[in-house]
Amino acid sequence: MSAVSSQLICKTFPVGLLHCNCTLIGNTETGEALVIDPGGDADQIMAYVHQFNLRLVSILHTHAHLDHVMGAGALKQHTGARIAVPAADRFLWEAVEMQCRAFRLAYTPVPEPDDWLQDGDALALGGIALHTPGHSPGSTCFWFPQEHLLVAGDTLFRRGIGRTDLWGGDYATLEQSIRQKLYRLDQNTRVITGHGPDTLLGDEMRENPYIRG
Ligand SMILES: [Zn+2]
Repeated sequence: MSAVSSQLICKTFPVGLLHCNCTLIGNTETGEALVIDPGGDADQIMAYVHQFNLRLVSILHTHAHLDHVMGAGALKQHTGARIAVPAADRFLWEAVEMQCRAFRLAYTPVPEPDDWLQDGDALALGGIALHTPGHSPGSTCFWFPQEHLLVAGDTLFRRGIGRTDLWGGDYATLEQSIRQKLYRLDQNTRVITGHGPDTLLGDEMRENPYIRG
């Protein structure tokens, strides 16, 4: 567990066969919590929710690739939390079964989302949705300005960027999203990535071999 402020806890752990980073953010005073990218292993996610005595109110998705979504249905069933998916990834959410076939992974049905996210939408716990298309048309980062925290999905990695060869991906769009949206945030922002280790935004602006700030 890593504390990001006196009230908020933030825990990131890999889930599912493709080791998507799932992040649980909770307010220890109010008990309110959200989960980002439940790619699988819903039982493990619920164990953390219970361990920290939290109440899940929101299930957020940075994008609708198969490895970031397959635990959503079970979490919804356990908690009744609202599922939110970027609006421009609707075509991917509705084609999860096709995606699973393409990657030869077992398919777990995903329910209809409660909310379709747009750029600038306000989230639970003071978060803001930043639409950063490129890895997929709907790819969205979740920014928690008071905590200097960004959950970037597959848009930006530590010394890497998201692939753009999947459905609707586009390199020029990804580059513009990173430059125009992410590299304008506070350099001290901690970035939780969709796979692998986290990083600092300022470090990526200086050291990322693909896109310099
Ligand atoms: Zn992805």
